[in-house]
Amino acid sequence: MCRAKLIASLGPSTAGQDVVITLCREGVVGFRINFAHGDETLWRSMVDNILKAESFVGRPLTLIGDLRGPSIRLGDVDNPYSVMRGEVVNLVLKDVGLSGKREVPLPLNDVYNKLEVGDTVLMNDGKIRFRVSDILRDRVELIALTDAVISSRKTLVVANKEFNLPLLREKDISDLNFALTMGFNYIGLSYVRRGMDVKIVKDMIRRSGRDNVRVIAKIETRSAVENLDEIIEAADAVLVARGDLGMNFGLEEIPYLQKKIISKSLELGKPVIVATQLLESMIENPIPTRAEVVDVSTAVSDGVDALMLTGETAIGKYPVEAVRWLRKVVEATEDRLVISKFRDVKSLSAKFAKGITELAEDINAKLVVFSIYGNTPRIVALLRPSVDFYVGTPNIDVARSLSILWGLRVYQVSASNYDEGLELTYELLKKKEEIRLGDLIILAYGLKEYEQAIKLRRVGSS
Ligand code: PGA
Ligand code: MN
Repeated sequence: MCRAKLIASLGPSTAGQDVVITLCREGVVGFRINFAHGDETLWRSMVDNILKAESFVGRPLTLIGDLRGPSIRLGDVDNPYSVMRGEVVNLVLKDVGLSGKREVPLPLNDVYNKLEVGDTVLMNDGKIRFRVSDILRDRVELIALTDAVISSRKTLVVANKEFNLPLLREKDISDLNFALTMGFNYIGLSYVRRGMDVKIVKDMIRRSGRDNVRVIAKIETRSAVENLDEIIEAADAVLVARGDLGMNFGLEEIPYLQKKIISKSLELGKPVIVATQLLESMIENPIPTRAEVVDVSTAVSDGVDALMLTGETAIGKYPVEAVRWLRKVVEATEDRLVISKFRDVKSLSAKFAKGITELAEDINAKLVVFSIYGNTPRIVALLRPSVDFYVGTPNIDVARSLSILWGLRVYQVSASNYDEGLELTYELLKKKEEIRLGDLIILAYGLKEYEQAIKLRRVGSS
């Protein structure tokens, strides 16, 4: 089993029930739905597919919903159309663009009005480029620097320009409410610029009463990199969003930025995910390139909690093969290479978690933790234990939110107190043959004053 976890973005390629189950069988433990695309009817059916797959495969699956945030996206195009390099298209301040008039709809006044002749406009993770060639009364002329296909809701970046867009627009607030009522475990916040952006969304979540919903800060703007520490501190988890990051920075800066975001996150005790163009060529082909395989392996040895496929599973021709390859590379890396870990923990409860982890490693025991809120397993995951680590929790939302964290094997166990929880988790693991006769097991829960929070047990035949 992979210790670095696999997350798949859902889209047209993975809209069916069967493919979602297949992805789980291949090792996916969490799904992302991007609210920038589709509508509530589609998202509901995706959630439905995930929940059915969850009962089918018998382990908790994480639900992640991404808010568009202050990213710039095109409006809708009536029909996608192709543009050749050197041709001109018309950027218009509208919700819907007509392909017949070669319109590119941009429903954002603040951006439209700040364009200047000579600006470079990027789309599609930077594969499509235009230059602003003229500003007219009712349109902005763009000349294509690459061949391009114009389609609905693409992200757009103007090189070297940031616009002061509101953190959440009406649609984002309604998408957030949708996610909260549908039981999503994480909200991915796109285009975070400062720690305050994360705090505002966390406050809204808290006020809704669903305070176990966590926020993933997607690092993809220049401001996010400048304010990295305060953003990581405010967030529950961090995502290296290489798609947009690579439009807002030179591509040659991505390796450094990725390493810096990963190590800062782990140092500050936050889970970290890497996404986008992991196996990009698999959108079209059933086999990845050498470079892609090396890239995935590097992220795994740098110690990421999870890898998230985007286009490969959302719109690709080979979503199942992409996941299978991702798993193969992760497993081979974990078998053979050293995985970075950070163990410099500060709080007393974290030091306790480190104590049981290192004891388990020292005596080569499997570690079994029962947790009601998920705090102890979250710390143990950060320590990247080299022994097998199992978690029992009575709360399905906690179980789902833990699934995407490094190395955790999570089971839902209905118990009302810690001792009962430990016993039931132990019995369940024996039944599932995860622990076997002769195994040495450390059974523990988080540090509780004046209680015996740890037991050592050899699995007997009874
Ligand atoms: P997106 O985020 O797919 O929501 O744009 C990922 C990225 O930018 O890499
Ligand atoms: Mn993005």
